[in-house]
Amino acid sequence: MPFCPKCRYEYVEEIDVCCDCGEKLLDKLPDEINCSEIKVKWKPLQTLPGRIYAEMVKEVFDKKGIPSLVRSTFFSSAYGTRGISGDTTTIFVPEDRFEECEEIITQMFNHI
Ligand SMILES: [Zn+2]
Repeated sequence: MPFCPKCRYEYVEEIDVCCDCGEKLLDKLPDEINCSEIKVKWKPLQTLPGRIYAEMVKEVFDKKGIPSLVRSTFFSSAYGTRGISGDTTTIFVPEDRFEECEEIITQMFNHI
């Protein structure tokens, strides 16, 4: 999976330039390699309607010291219309902290 070295987002295979900053995507980020080395089992938490939500969730997880991966799918990124049609973001968290994360995310979106 290609990653943007600046925004640290993962993209689908067909995309090779970041739709946010225009940076050329890399095959892997050093951080992600470390993550797989310690054999974290990532579990997809929830599909969010956009990256803004994912950023909010990730920030909360970061504060609590929970590692998380954000994976975005931009269906229409090639045409520069991101956000208009399908723009979904999925957050992956370690399997052993899944329930904790699920609770956080539920609480967060109850408050909005
Ligand atoms: Zn980028």
